[in-house]
Amino acid sequence: MIKTKRDYLDSLRNLGHVVYFKGERVDDVTKHPSFIPHINSAAKTYEMALLPEHEDLLTAVSHLTGKRISRFTHIHQSVDDLIKKVQMLRLIAHETGSCFQRCVGFDGLNATYMTTYDIDERHGTSYHERFLAYMKKIQEENLMLVGGMTDPKGDRSKPPSKQDDPDLFTRVVEKRDDGIVISGAKAHQTGAVNSHEILLMPTMSLREGDEPYALTCAVPLNAKGVVLIFGRQTNDERKAESRLDAGNPEFGMVGGEALVVFDNVFVPWERVFMCGEIDFAGTLVERFATLHRQNYGGCKGGVSDVVIGACALASEYQGTMKASHIRDKLAEMMHLAETIYTGSIACSAMGYPTASGAFYPDPILANCTKLNVSRNVYKIAQLAHDVAGGIIATLPPESDLRHPEIGKYVQKYMAGVAGVSTEARMKILRLIENMTGGTALVESMHGAGSPQAQKVMYQRLGRIDMKIKWAKRLAGIEE
Ligand code: SF4
Ligand code: FE
Repeated sequence: MIKTKRDYLDSLRNLGHVVYFKGERVDDVTKHPSFIPHINSAAKTYEMALLPEHEDLLTAVSHLTGKRISRFTHIHQSVDDLIKKVQMLRLIAHETGSCFQRCVGFDGLNATYMTTYDIDERHGTSYHERFLAYMKKIQEENLMLVGGMTDPKGDRSKPPSKQDDPDLFTRVVEKRDDGIVISGAKAHQTGAVNSHEILLMPTMSLREGDEPYALTCAVPLNAKGVVLIFGRQTNDERKAESRLDAGNPEFGMVGGEALVVFDNVFVPWERVFMCGEIDFAGTLVERFATLHRQNYGGCKGGVSDVVIGACALASEYQGTMKASHIRDKLAEMMHLAETIYTGSIACSAMGYPTASGAFYPDPILANCTKLNVSRNVYKIAQLAHDVAGGIIATLPPESDLRHPEIGKYVQKYMAGVAGVSTEARMKILRLIENMTGGTALVESMHGAGSPQAQKVMYQRLGRIDMKIKWAKRLAGIEE
């Protein structure tokens, strides 16, 4: 069982999964400078769970075994569980200032739990029982999962079965007595290089003819035929070059995303939780999306708190803290952060039990939360750039600060108020740059589904007919 950070790192070292980055095979992800920050972030989910003061938020009691487990492997049993999830995410984000990745698999487990129950009710299958056995293993070993939803999708105007290349959506290519063989890929997989398993789910609602794509199954990332190709991030080379220039050297930027390829991978039946039930593909997608959208005011609220703190500190270092417009902007940033957190708490408070017994957040409110995140985090970044100043785009590198000849100039001209070192000022400005730059913002826009996906949910769940009815009644229109 994985308990400590060391256990977690050892488990990754021993996994032997096939990972590539910039044209090279990475044998030990725990030693690679491009992966270490993400791994440190994910490791926080293990480390913090061991601290008595965080036990209530970071652990839970398994309804399957009665044992105390990581909350990241728990099935929500109450509204309280839903709220604690959000509180936990904000708490961890204060420590990492970045995505810690483990929630995606957590949400996949909860969505699959609810949906396998419903599939069995309608189809007389036994996926749920199988899934319970799998859940017990995950809880027992305290594994980290990738939530594998997003397919590459090729030509977006065509359904999976009409693509020129049938692998552009992950599919079953062969059914055997002992299991299935799958082919395809999942894109933007957060935390994939430092997880143990991937829980594959369909990427969208499916129609007749798309049966091979109605697939939910769990695959160890070291299974034969699984290849992980790690993506580049804004300024990622700085992680290897300079701690100061990296901004958040310990924990990096966002979650570290990879393209995960399945080149004819065998999956035994006991790991298959949907196979051909097209009528439940959309349900699973919607549940996973709701459960992940629920999170965003928690983790991004927590990340925003750090950005606000960094801006306040930079203002102190630069002597602008007393200016009323700076204080006003900091208050506005706090309002934007608390607004997204409010949404996450609200959708959790309005959560309810599904037929399986697992609790589910209110979908339209979770949706609203995520759409607000895709706006507010950009507004917070805009205000951060305003407060910190143009210097975050033009700051000299650490190498010049330490340079034997020109270092003295950087020291002298990058200084702020008396009593604060130039180095401290540079560090906080780099942190702001890191946390409000390219990749971090794009994640807030597209993580848990692009904004348009949330608008579609409003069209579906927004009850426009009721709204029309209320307006008609007040206007006295009877026809
Ligand atoms: Fe968790 Fe947030 Fe990262 Fe998603 S974006 S995995 S909710 S920390
Ligand atoms: Fe995300």
